[in-house]
Amino acid sequence: MNILIDSVYPCSCGYYSDSLKPCTCTPALVTKYQKWISGPLLYRIDIHIEVPRVDYEKLSGDRVRETSESIRARVQAARDRQRNRFSNNESSIVCNADMRVGKIRQFGRLQAEGGVLSVSKH
Ligand SMILES: [Zn+2]
Repeated sequence: MNILIDSVYPCSCGYYSDSLKPCTCTPALVTKYQKWISGPLLYRIDIHIEVPRVDYEKLSGDRVRETSESIRARVQAARDRQRNRFSNNESSIVCNADMRVGKIRQFGRLQAEGGVLSVSKH
């Protein structure tokens, strides 16, 4: 399996739909550019994600970031809870992703307050 990750500008000047800098292209030029980019290239890419501008300061600042060790501990704790949840189960389920509808009904039943909240949102 090969994975292709690519990025393209949304227009010739690169600022179409940008939140800070205006695009200098005409609508016709934007359309022409996007048609030129699409076709054979986009046809071969399965997932398309539009990524908005990210401030350099946010990426390079001295924010306190969660360490990989901390993330690993959270993931491991979640896995331990899942393993405990399914430990008395006769099936081969080891994590939430393995559950089918019947197991979701068995283990994922909403508490009364959650059910009321869920119904009121729809
Ligand atoms: Zn532009």
